[in-house]
Amino acid sequence: MSLWTSTADPAVAVSFTEAVRSNVPPGGGLYLPARLAPLPDVPRLLELGWLERAPALLRPLLGPEPPEAELDALLADAFSFPAPLVEVREDRFALELFHGPTLSFKDFGARFLARFLAWAEARGGASPRRLVITATSGDTGSAVAQAFWGLPGFRVAVLYPRGRVSPFQELQMATLGGNVRAFAVDGSFDDCQRLVKACFADGALSADLGLTSANSINVARLVAQVLYYFEAVAQLRRHLPAGPRPWIAVPSGNFGNLCAGLLAARLGLPLAGFVAATNANRTVPDYLETGDYRPRPSLATLSNAMDVGDPNNWQRISWLFGDEVEQLRRSLRWGSAGDPETREALAALAALGYAGDPHGAVAWHVLERSLGPGEVGIFLATAHPAKFEATAEAAGPVPALAELARRPLLSEPLPNSLELLRSELRAWRPEAAR
Ligand SMILES: *Cc1c(COP(=O)(O)O)cnc(C)c1O
Repeated sequence: MSLWTSTADPAVAVSFTEAVRSNVPPGGGLYLPARLAPLPDVPRLLELGWLERAPALLRPLLGPEPPEAELDALLADAFSFPAPLVEVREDRFALELFHGPTLSFKDFGARFLARFLAWAEARGGASPRRLVITATSGDTGSAVAQAFWGLPGFRVAVLYPRGRVSPFQELQMATLGGNVRAFAVDGSFDDCQRLVKACFADGALSADLGLTSANSINVARLVAQVLYYFEAVAQLRRHLPAGPRPWIAVPSGNFGNLCAGLLAARLGLPLAGFVAATNANRTVPDYLETGDYRPRPSLATLSNAMDVGDPNNWQRISWLFGDEVEQLRRSLRWGSAGDPETREALAALAALGYAGDPHGAVAWHVLERSLGPGEVGIFLATAHPAKFEATAEAAGPVPALAELARRPLLSEPLPNSLELLRSELRAWRPEAAR
């Protein structure tokens, strides 16, 4: 049946389509699959290619919709780029998730979400949801803006913390124009996230404008990310035919990516386990160490897309482990890397002949400190090094980025004010050419 329930209310049971469209359950909490059983044929699935395997992995999460042929077409369109597993040294691999159009792993979730929503809205029905509003610490905004850009009937408002995203991230979201508006908010990512949450909490605004979210709490992003965990293990078996179970290190901010990995594990993906890696924003590592969950203001770091002090997917992960810190401790390894450790990790990777980015480097650092002899590790390389000042030079030139730098920046400054945001959104006429 594949119904989705709420972390706050086990009585909630909605279809995947409803969970995507409403974004959060009525009465708070977050959506998760009510029940996830291991798939019966994982070894066979691991031998398939990405596009053959994807529908089989998604069916238990999506239920009957969309029908097979439409789902196949949607997946082929969304995932038109590779996710190679690269050997960095013996028993250490990078899963490169940055070969999509905006050069970060956010393209996987955003492209699937855009195409799924377009499919769902095209069937008509009550209360269309066609104004996508999203807060971003950098990469979500560019991926979502690109994914929806020019999609008929949809509009996108991206909120990002002014001066806290990399110049390329800003160019990627704020040079599109058309149906995309980029607001540079006077505040942190957490402020942007609060503004977006407040828009959804305003029932009248949300209904009048048909708001929908593309944040990492949206289940469409979550399920798309399940796919590459299977791809990682499938490719690992080609490198290491004995089929050792790997540890996978996930560089985490809002913890949506790790949550998707945990869903993959519940679908039967054979793993040793996950390593949760953060930068100096240590809300989760501190919780795992002390048992005391204390959200706090975010700190600016080199891995800016992970600068989150109040991770919005943590609720889900905690729920998956019965909200028991002991269970989490038994199931995960974890650690953090500050900026000095991130720089050391980048240098270590460079010495191995691998050009890393600051986010992947955080995962590498924590992975290296988490594994014992004989253990095999994969870290997720979540963004292309050319996107960030600290690593652009080593990455060499990327033509798509050089072209972007010549376009005018169309960002709109916005004070950290719900009132002003509300009036901007209400005054936005869909037909107005911008
Ligand atoms: C968003 C992002 C992360 C963090 O992912 P979460 O799902 O929020 O934990 C890590 N690296 C990069 C490059 C990102 O854009």
